[in-house]
Amino acid sequence: MTRDLSRREFLRRTGALGALPLTASAVAERDLHDAGNRVRRYNRLGRTQLEVSDISFGSSRLRTGEEDIVRHALDRGINYFDTAESYTRRASERVLGNVLGPVRERVYIVSKTHVDDNTSAERIMAALERSLRRLQTDYLDVYFNHAVNRVSRLQNDAWFEFVERAKRQGKIRYTGMSGHAGRLTECLDYALDEDMVDVILVAYNYGQDPAFYESLTRSFDLIARQPGLPAALEKAKLRDVGVVAMKTLAGGRLNDMRPYEKDGASYAQAAFRWTLSDTNVDTLIVSMTSPKLIDEYLGASGWRKLAAQDAALLKAYAHLNGTSYCRQACNDCAGACPYGVPIADVLRTRMYATDYQDLEMAQREYRAFQVNAAACQNCSGKACREACTHGVRIDVLCAPTHRMLA
Ligand code: SF4
Ligand code: SF4
Repeated sequence: MTRDLSRREFLRRTGALGALPLTASAVAERDLHDAGNRVRRYNRLGRTQLEVSDISFGSSRLRTGEEDIVRHALDRGINYFDTAESYTRRASERVLGNVLGPVRERVYIVSKTHVDDNTSAERIMAALERSLRRLQTDYLDVYFNHAVNRVSRLQNDAWFEFVERAKRQGKIRYTGMSGHAGRLTECLDYALDEDMVDVILVAYNYGQDPAFYESLTRSFDLIARQPGLPAALEKAKLRDVGVVAMKTLAGGRLNDMRPYEKDGASYAQAAFRWTLSDTNVDTLIVSMTSPKLIDEYLGASGWRKLAAQDAALLKAYAHLNGTSYCRQACNDCAGACPYGVPIADVLRTRMYATDYQDLEMAQREYRAFQVNAAACQNCSGKACREACTHGVRIDVLCAPTHRMLA
């Protein structure tokens, strides 16, 4: 069911109903890069009752030797740390463990493992135990089934067997599912209807809410298509399931946006404020790669609506990147390629390489695909040229992605 933003909700989000103005450039400088920025709000993460920082630590790019970044986040009041066994060849979990192990009772640590249709309970338990060792802890606050992209993965009875045992042994407190693929809404609906998760972790940014995105790009015909997602988040809230948002930067080309940033808002802060203005969202995670970025990001902590300048920044970004940014979760192009190229997955790894500047992660993920974009090198692209409902040139982007990542 599509949830259109009511006029009042739209005005509230865009700040027309009493937004806190960010206008003075003194404020701008302070909020953009102020080393004094701290977490200003903690939200209850649904039925888990965990009180989590509204902007939280994503560690998909955390590397060996980067303990100082984690310490900085901790000093700034961040208390929710998200990782996965697959991140940075497990360095992410190790680095977090080095810093958070000694202060375990002050923080929440969550991790993830990929559970497929036939993964056994023993294998899941073994994965959890390896994560616990790397993270130097006896338990995780939330353990996620990672990157769920089809309902059958949620129907594996071994997951329930594992959860029952792991909870009884005190190794996990709560469970969740994460997702960002084309069937995200379908998977969320299933997990919520079956009451099988305490927390959901979902890709959610302003480009995925058609009612808002259309208001930015009306003249460009770039309407994002994930119409069921806001309703799924509402359903989660109604069932008291915690909601964590990720991929909130819609591709994260931060450098592209520096020339447009002025009067107290950076693009990242604007994008975060949009996500946090959905009161169904309890926290967002973002990859934190330097103390300076952490200070900038935390300029958006505490907000529950857009600041005056934010819509203009989001609009500028949408116009700059609208036809090169793959939303992934819409998956309207599924089945367009006669050679079975997994287009959204290929373009996601391209995003890791070109936007996140993380060639290693991009290559690792790309090389794990069973089918990649090799076929694109000798293909006219006729079948996929107009398959993207957002105007992304699949035929132009996929072959260079293969050359870069294969
Ligand atoms: S290429 Fe276009 S249609 Fe395909 S997932 Fe990306 S945004 Fe959606
Ligand atoms: S360029 Fe050809 S092989 Fe590649 S995705 Fe398009 S149709 Fe498929």
